[in-house]
Amino acid sequence: LAKQNGHNHFQFYVASIDQEIRDRKQLEKELSQAQSNHQFHLVYQPQINLESKRVIGAEALLRWEHPTRGLVPPDFFIPVAESNGSIVEIGQWVLNQACWQAARWASDGSPLRIAVNLSAVQLRQETIVDDILDTLKRHKIPAGRLELEVTETSFMTNLSDAVAKLHRLHKAGISIAVDDFGTGYSSLTYLKQMPVQHLKIDKQFIRDLLVNEEDTRIANTIIDLGRSLNLSVVAEGVETAEQEYYLSQRGCQLAQGYYFSKPLLPKDFETFVKGFHKQIVENNA
Ligand code: C2E
Ligand code: MG
Ligand code: MG
Ligand code: MG
Repeated sequence: LAKQNGHNHFQFYVASIDQEIRDRKQLEKELSQAQSNHQFHLVYQPQINLESKRVIGAEALLRWEHPTRGLVPPDFFIPVAESNGSIVEIGQWVLNQACWQAARWASDGSPLRIAVNLSAVQLRQETIVDDILDTLKRHKIPAGRLELEVTETSFMTNLSDAVAKLHRLHKAGISIAVDDFGTGYSSLTYLKQMPVQHLKIDKQFIRDLLVNEEDTRIANTIIDLGRSLNLSVVAEGVETAEQEYYLSQRGCQLAQGYYFSKPLLPKDFETFVKGFHKQIVENNA
């Protein structure tokens, strides 16, 4: 009986792995068609200068609107796209779309900086630097208006290759931010070698910033590190007035989060910026 049970378990196990592989293949297939089926769009989350209380830019975030699955979260599909390489094409679409949007805003008199997430897989591509510079040229966007967000994992596989590429991008005028800072394999050696201008404090340290003493200390440390290395610090995931107050008192220059705004469709983003700035002018009057 035991043997028979074991056998059944084994079959069940194989069947469930088999199902998992089929689900994964199906997801990959749908992901590969998502672009041509126009299922992707970008949303934009305002980035606020805590001192001037002005919107200084926006982070572009990818959304996949699937006809039956609904809105698929990027934390779910980006890793899949990274593992089968389709992130390269998807990332190029994102960059192009974000630059197109930035050009629209500039021609409407609102030249905002746009931050785009760049996957480690994209950075490993031979032609990535030229692809990015070409995209800027095509949309007539000054390089200073683009910020690329990279994570610490980007530096890990081939440090000297990553350094060389980021240097070329930086020399062209593009600014580089380290995203989710503190969650990866942070190393001061990387920071020293990298032409990096911004550190983004991961939202996991901001969530309990005023409740958990360790999170307070980590956030303080990143802010101090930024100051001593002359990097600007961006807090992500700011959800309350208390967090905003603490961060701005502590010397964190920039923030984004639901307290200010969720990521928005372009039309709503434009409305937000107008309303936000109007409110500041009125408060100062
Ligand atoms: P990320 O780049 O660290 O982006 C910040 C995430 O935090 C976004 O999640 C944003 O919607 C969310 N967020 C912002 N403010 C708050 C807040 O106050 N509270 C909370 N709880 N969350 C907040 P999202 O849009 O789901 O994206 C998740 C991740 O997916 C991104 O993390 C990024 O790693 C990746 N991703 C998104 N779009 C792209 C893309 O175009 N290319 C690449 N390579 N990765 C992308
Ligand atoms: Mg990001
Ligand atoms: Mg982040
Ligand atoms: Mg993140």
